Amino acid sequence: MQRTHNWTTQEWVEADRKHHMRPFTDYVEAKTGSARIVTRAEGIYTFDTEGNEVLDGMAGLWCTNVGYGRKELADAAYSQMMELPYYNTFFNSAHKPSIELAGVLAELTPDGLDHAFYASSGSEANDTIVRMVRHYWNMKGKPAKKTFISREYAYHGTTMAAASLGGMSGMHGQADLPLPGFEHVMPPYWYAFGGDMTPEEFGMAAAKAVEDKILELGADKVAAFIGEPIQGAGAVIIPPETYWPEIQRICKKHDVLLIADEVICGFGRTGNWFGSQTFDIKPDLMPIAKGLTSGYIPLSAVMTTDDIVDTLGKGGEFQHGFTYSGHPVACAVALANIDVIKRENLVERTRTDTGPYLSEKLAELQDHPLVGEVRSVGLIGAIELTKNKETRELFEPMGEVGAKCKSHCMANGLIMRSTRDVMVMSPPLIITRAEIDIMIERARKGLDATAKEIGVA
Ligand SMILES: *Cc1c(COP(=O)(O)O)cnc(C)c1O
Repeated sequence: MQRTHNWTTQEWVEADRKHHMRPFTDYVEAKTGSARIVTRAEGIYTFDTEGNEVLDGMAGLWCTNVGYGRKELADAAYSQMMELPYYNTFFNSAHKPSIELAGVLAELTPDGLDHAFYASSGSEANDTIVRMVRHYWNMKGKPAKKTFISREYAYHGTTMAAASLGGMSGMHGQADLPLPGFEHVMPPYWYAFGGDMTPEEFGMAAAKAVEDKILELGADKVAAFIGEPIQGAGAVIIPPETYWPEIQRICKKHDVLLIADEVICGFGRTGNWFGSQTFDIKPDLMPIAKGLTSGYIPLSAVMTTDDIVDTLGKGGEFQHGFTYSGHPVACAVALANIDVIKRENLVERTRTDTGPYLSEKLAELQDHPLVGEVRSVGLIGAIELTKNKETRELFEPMGEVGAKCKSHCMANGLIMRSTRDVMVMSPPLIITRAEIDIMIERARKGLDATAKEIGVA
């Protein structure tokens, strides 16, 4: 193996093309394309082999809530590796970090979610939930209650079960998904599907789609409903206020478990510790990941209730777990990460200061000819690009203008993601007002350059 530390950008790019299969990548394009080779990051800024400084408006992939370069997290990993780098939590063993973190999570999450089952990714957490829920209904003597209801544009991960829970048609198409027993209904996406209804009316209609599906399948067949409090990867779909209370009522009425996927919304993103608190959701199961360690190391968990744990216990040993469930180093980093979030008041600051400020600054983009709607809660937001501000007409083919805008933002020093023709953002929670100004200024430059390219004045 050659020593690689002083390669040129071009050498890195070529080696990447040759040997590295990146996720969600077109492998024909990748043969000639050039990945941006990120070398380091500090605060909210990333740097690459070309020396570019780019503001990370996405917190990595919605995860570096405490920002980059936090020594406390590195120290926690180092000390834990020196003391106990690994031990499993199968076979009647545990260790201090996994126990301590479970207690901290029970405290932080909404009432009733007092138990943590660990895995290493959001996908694994959701697979775990499918296992738990199926076994739960078996133990309740209702083995027919097995179908999961989810929404179109939902993202719950990429394993076979998690992608089946998800509502991404592209992912389904490539793997003959969803598996049997996974159904999808309309998301509470007013801008795209609300037509002439008010957002409040549409929130009720989108919730009714869930109840209609339960009635169509028969409540005795429906195990659970899963939803992200705000759909992240689906392009920051913020449900109208009427939606979640109605979903809550419907799940209760039909004895359907409610799963709030907090992988993005958790750990301060929406201005509360969890999106369930922002929307007053009372879930039976809650997958968490991403912001749990700010992405410094992989860790996820399923938080759940006494009822679920006690019911699973009726079946003897729960035959499920991962080699890395409750990994001591990952749990130690999560504890350090939560300490930073608490000490720096990042949750409250997001709710009362930076979140409202982002929303104000986004509103200033509303006058731009390409902008149909801006929306945000806490520090998760979106800019919906449109062909016609009045009629909310979408671009065709979908996604091209968004992709152009993403490139123009990058050229102006800002990472935003484009999903269809929606620009989405989820910056680290340490972002300051002054840095939000910079982010929005760069976004405007990206929008201007896009408008110019496609000939919109
Ligand atoms: C990212 C994500 C997942 C999947 O997490 P991975 O760690 O990538 O497996 C699940 N649910 C939501 C809401 C996500 O955003």
